[in-house]
Amino acid sequence: MTAGAKILDGKALAQKLQDSLKKEVAQLKREYGSVPHLVNIMIGKEPSACAYANSQQKVAEYIGISYDLETLPANVTQKDLVAFIKKLDAEGSVHGVMLHKPVPAHIDYRAVGNQITPVKDMEGVNVANIGKMILGDTRIIPCTPAAVMEHIHSTGVSLRGKEAVVVGHSEIVGKPLSMLLLAENATVTVCHIATSEAGKLTEHIARADVLVVAVGKPAIIKGDWIKQGAVVIDVGINKLDSRIVGDVEFESARKRASFITPVPGGVGPVTVVMLMRNGIETFKAQHEMKKVSI
Ligand code: NDP
Repeated sequence: MTAGAKILDGKALAQKLQDSLKKEVAQLKREYGSVPHLVNIMIGKEPSACAYANSQQKVAEYIGISYDLETLPANVTQKDLVAFIKKLDAEGSVHGVMLHKPVPAHIDYRAVGNQITPVKDMEGVNVANIGKMILGDTRIIPCTPAAVMEHIHSTGVSLRGKEAVVVGHSEIVGKPLSMLLLAENATVTVCHIATSEAGKLTEHIARADVLVVAVGKPAIIKGDWIKQGAVVIDVGINKLDSRIVGDVEFESARKRASFITPVPGGVGPVTVVMLMRNGIETFKAQHEMKKVSI
């Protein structure tokens, strides 16, 4: 029996990671005489998108990264958006570019994301970076899966040979995460809506040494489904009445898990730091390319 899970404090982990990145940026400044310059492109002004951009700005400032938010009108055409991205791609002083989600319905996020040159793709959405990740090169990876991996690493639990179950197979969370878990030699099962429809979700969850849930439905995973001693990472962010809750029924799950992330305050705070880490990696990659071409 587990006495009760250790709560994985995302704010504390984010602070530790930020402090380490701050040191790294100071070192890069000494080495190259400049710091990463990142540009976030936001279309329109959706309040939750603005809140996320504000937290990016704060973290960038703390770490010592230069960060610009470029807001384009909600009716910008895809052609003009791509032209804007190409202009940033061509600017030597810009090291990282991202397209803020959500985008309006007339914009094809995947097609536009693919237009960001891979070496400036700070969210890891270009197919070239996704392909590299599948082949085990995890230098630039999507931020939320990266945050999940940081939480798992912070527990000290090795993934090798463990049963890892991911619930949700979205392009930004579940799918890339399954590759990262596989890269660390976990035995990975990915569940989705058809798993639930087939009535098999609980049996997969019961096997999970490490369970990651990214569904977007409040408390869909019940605490008594969880294996004793499992590591539980809850990616879900849901509004329930006036509260924010996760996808996992927290109070009952914490009685069975060994480690569990809270919502809010678990994966979210680490995600934004992972974005900055990617931005630092794109900066380094561009300098390495320059060295090679000299
Ligand atoms: P999506 O809606 O894109 O994906 C949800 C996934 O859950 C789909 O793969 C879907 O399967 C699956 N699913 C839906 N219902 C069930 C069910 N009953 N049983 C099993 N699987 C099911 O969401 P995202 O991946 O973008 O986000 C998931 C959650 O994570 C959201 O709450 C979001 O707010 C949060 N999030 C948090 C972040 C953070 O930094 N903390 C960042 C990104 C997201 P199918 O496609 O087959 O229907």
